[in-house]
Amino acid sequence: MSEVRVRIAPSPSGNLHIGTARTALFNYLFAKKNNGKFILRIEDTDAERTSQEYIDNIFDSLKALGLNWDEGPDVGGDYGPYTQSQRFDIYPKYAQILLDKGFAYECFCTPEELEQEKHEATQNKKAYVYSKKCVNLTEDEKAKLRAEGRKPALRFNIEKAQKAFHDSSILKFTDMVKGELHIDTDLLGDFVIMKSNGTPTYNFAVVIDDMLMKMTHVIRGEDHISNTFKQILIFEALGAEVPQFGHLGMILAPDRSKLSKRHGATAVSEFLEKGYLTEALVNFVALLGWSPSDGEELKTVDEIAQDFRIHELSSSNSIFEYDKLNWMNAQYIKKYSDEELGEKLKPYLTQYNLDELTHEQFIRMIEVTREPLKLLSDITDAVPYFFGEGVTIDADAQTKVLDTEVSQDVLKTFMEQAKDWEWTEENLHEKLEAFRGFYKEKGIKPKVTMWAIRVAVTGRTCGADMTAILAIIGKEKSFNRIKAAMKAKV
Ligand code: GLU
Repeated sequence: MSEVRVRIAPSPSGNLHIGTARTALFNYLFAKKNNGKFILRIEDTDAERTSQEYIDNIFDSLKALGLNWDEGPDVGGDYGPYTQSQRFDIYPKYAQILLDKGFAYECFCTPEELEQEKHEATQNKKAYVYSKKCVNLTEDEKAKLRAEGRKPALRFNIEKAQKAFHDSSILKFTDMVKGELHIDTDLLGDFVIMKSNGTPTYNFAVVIDDMLMKMTHVIRGEDHISNTFKQILIFEALGAEVPQFGHLGMILAPDRSKLSKRHGATAVSEFLEKGYLTEALVNFVALLGWSPSDGEELKTVDEIAQDFRIHELSSSNSIFEYDKLNWMNAQYIKKYSDEELGEKLKPYLTQYNLDELTHEQFIRMIEVTREPLKLLSDITDAVPYFFGEGVTIDADAQTKVLDTEVSQDVLKTFMEQAKDWEWTEENLHEKLEAFRGFYKEKGIKPKVTMWAIRVAVTGRTCGADMTAILAIIGKEKSFNRIKAAMKAKV
C-alpha cells in the first residue's frame, strides 16, 4: 500500500476552531498510527474572509497543541505550494481537461437569472437544482453571449460523469467512519467549478490539491458529506484515484445546539489564554469521537495514537462538556511539580510584583494555592493577598466576621501574643494551635478564632492554609493588616 498521506485544510476566516483542531488531531493520529504524513494546507481562496492574523493563529494553535505537520506552507514539501492562493495558475489546466472531456461546460447565466430560477423553485416548493440551461449552447450562441460582455463560469456536468462511471444515478461510497453512504446525484445540480473571474470554487480546488498532493485519506467533519459526493465525481472525471473518506460527527454544545461563543471559548487560542493546558485540550478533544479501549480516559497523544482505529470512531455527534474539560485540566495541573507549575502560572500573575517574594516563598505560595485550580488563570484571583501592603476586605467578611466583638478580641490578643513569636512556618503552626486552644477554653470555636485572623490578613473568609500565608507574607505585613482591621472597627 502506498504511504498514508492526510491533511488538515483550514480556511483562514477565523481563529483555529476547536472543531478544526479535533479534525487536525484525528488526521495527525491516523498518520502517526500508519507511519504516514500529516500535511497542512491553507485554503485561502476566499480573499475577502482571509487574513494573515488568522493564518498566524492557525499555525500557532496547531503548533501549541503539538500537531506538527510534515509538509506545509512554512516547511515546504514535494507537492507545494501549500497555500491555495499561490496555486491559482494550477487549476485552469485541470478545468480545461474537464471541459475537453465534456465533464464541464460554460455557463453564461447571470446572477439575476440564477436568482430567478431559485425563486421559481421556492414558489413551486421544490429543492433548487440548476436548470442546465447552458449545457447545450452552440458555439454561435456562446460567441453571442461573449460579445454581450458575459464571462462564463464553468459547471460540472454531473449526469455525464455519473453515466460514465456508474450504472444508475445513485452514487455510493464506503465512509471509514460512517459506513456506506449514498446519494441520488440527480439532486446535486451541476455546480460551478471555476467562477467567471477565473478562480476555482472550494470543491474544485480541494480535489485538484488532494489529487496533486497525493492524499490517500480525507478525514473531516460530516458537514462535508454532500461535498464529498461532488468531489468523488470530479476525481473520477479526471481519471484520478479517489481517496478514502472518513466523516466525523459534529461537536455540539451541552444544549445540543451548534457550539458557539455564547457557550464559552471556541477557538484554541482562547482556551489557551484562559489557562487550559495543551495536553488536557488534546486529550479532551480526542475523546470527542474516540474512546480508549481500556476505559482509561487520561492519555498522552502517543498513547492515543497507539489505540487509534479510525473505523471505531463514533459516527454520532459529540457533546462538548466544558465541565469535563475543566475536570481534565485540573487532573493535568496536578501532574506538575510546584516548580513546573509555578513557571506555567507566571503569565497569569503579571499584575502582581513577584519580587515581593523570595523564590522559596513563591513556590510555597504555589504549593498552598494550587489544589482547587481548574484553569491556570484561576491563580490570578487566588493570590492577591500575598502581594502589596493592605488588603481589600470583602463587605460580607467585614460585617459577619471583623465587626464582631469576638473577632476584635481575637485580633487584640493575637497582636499581644504574636509580637514575640519567631516567624517561621513551623513555629507559627505550633503557636497558632496553642492560640486556638486558648480561645477554645473560653468557648470560642477554633474556626471562629481563625476566621478573624484570616479576614484581617487576607480580606477573605477562605483561602490557602493560614499558617503558610502568615509565614510567606511576614510578620510586619501581617501585623499591619491586623492593625488596619482593628482600626476599621473603631
Ligand atoms: N477549507 C475547508 C474547511 O475549512 C476544508 C474542508 C476539507 O477538509 O476538505 O472546511
